Amino acid sequence: MKEVTTSGHRGLDFEEPLLFEQGARGRTGVDLPEAKGAKNRLGGLQRKGDVGLPGLSEPQVIRHFTRLSQKNYGIDTGFYPLGSCTMKHNPRLNEKMARLPGFASLHPLQPFSTVQGALEVIDQVAAWLKTLTGLHGVAMSPAAGAQGELCGMMAIRAALTERGDARSRVLVPESAHGTNPATAASLGYQVDPVPGNARGRMDLDAFRAKLGPDVAAVMLTNPNTCGLFENDILEVANAIHDAGGFLYADGANFNAIVGRVRPVDLGVDCMHINLHKTFSTPHGGGGPGSGPVVLSKALAPFAPYPFLVHDEKGLRLAENGQDAPKDAKPFGRLKGFHGQMGMFVRALTYMLSHGGDGLRQVADDAVLNANYLLAALKDELSAPYPGPCMHEALFDDATLRAHGITTLDFAKALIDEGFHPMTIYFPLVVHGALLMEPTECESREGLDQFIQTVKALMARLKSGETAYFQEAPRLAPRRRLDETQAARRPVLRFRPEA
Ligand SMILES: *Cc1c(COP(=O)(O)O)cnc(C)c1O
Repeated sequence: MKEVTTSGHRGLDFEEPLLFEQGARGRTGVDLPEAKGAKNRLGGLQRKGDVGLPGLSEPQVIRHFTRLSQKNYGIDTGFYPLGSCTMKHNPRLNEKMARLPGFASLHPLQPFSTVQGALEVIDQVAAWLKTLTGLHGVAMSPAAGAQGELCGMMAIRAALTERGDARSRVLVPESAHGTNPATAASLGYQVDPVPGNARGRMDLDAFRAKLGPDVAAVMLTNPNTCGLFENDILEVANAIHDAGGFLYADGANFNAIVGRVRPVDLGVDCMHINLHKTFSTPHGGGGPGSGPVVLSKALAPFAPYPFLVHDEKGLRLAENGQDAPKDAKPFGRLKGFHGQMGMFVRALTYMLSHGGDGLRQVADDAVLNANYLLAALKDELSAPYPGPCMHEALFDDATLRAHGITTLDFAKALIDEGFHPMTIYFPLVVHGALLMEPTECESREGLDQFIQTVKALMARLKSGETAYFQEAPRLAPRRRLDETQAARRPVLRFRPEA
């Protein structure tokens, strides 16, 4: 569709050039006094060429970034049904607490006597995580889920090494998030994929057949990335324990069971928790995250530096061998400082404002909402596994393909309708997957609107309008981008001469 306006703007949605395209030489938004006693502002040095920074007035800068921010679609703008990412509302109370100067202005090298309150926050989050999971210890420093996985698997490796039983293989179900095999592989383990069964769960017989004295761990996500509860998990736990290995649980989907099921009762030895998924806190676009790892009694001594200790002077962080308790055997250190303070404050605010019963309700409502979507859409799209599901509803592309379009085409058409698309093409075990996670935050009206839109799009598709989908999005600031080209040949610098 050709632009209909002369300016390129559409209504109040502006076509926004780069700052480099807007700038003029010599223009500036600040007016500094002449530096006294210096020959020029470069201290006498001569500039060899143009620095290449755009010259802009203050209003130009403000408008540019305000307009860009208005193009951003986020959880505060509308429905954000990305599966596996748990994009839920971040209550503003969280933000208010995280901005209290006593938290926001902390320096990580302050003396412990001046940060007792902050250490108490970390300790309280740790206590909640241990209570909710039933596990013995928790490492708070990992910066996100993926680093939590690394932390948990390094604790497992340290425990195995200590007993003189270094093992070489890690079992990972085929439906796992890519970070699971990546974590195991980056630690030098051979990743052995376990196929799924017709019910969308890990195949128990195939799993048992792969067990052996060289298996260090199985990394299981529960509920899994198909949105289904791995109901053989007790058998899995018993079998891996009998074989001398550990059950690593990927806890990214903990929001589906928090307050209802304790991972310790499922035989889990360690599990990372994405605070930024289960306990709100803003995320997306690369950060920030926070991925504490809960650990069994056998694994807890291997948790990395730094970790909290209580002594007669109060709370402090053990940073190295000199100030660690005698029974500690840390495998090393993962992160410069003690984790993501702002995320701890937000997560604790969320925990305290919901309470134990409120968190359980979060899980109940998330599961209810996902089942509402699944029930409403399973005859429109095609659902590979019958319900009920847990916190996310999974569809495949059988119906879309039968009508000549792809999952990507459908996702792009949703953008025109004002919806952020669901997760697509993940999990890989389902052809052309569409994974929808409404979370507990969505109202029934919001879900109904989305359902009506999907139904209307399907009616359009079934009446033969394939081009409508293949040409989408038409109404977004940009049409369909060449993602392959963007990944292969990214243009990261604006060159006016080019
Ligand atoms: C999000 C996610 C991860 C990785 O967590 P990050 O915090 O993004 O590093 C791992 N596994 C699953 C199932 C996830 O959804």
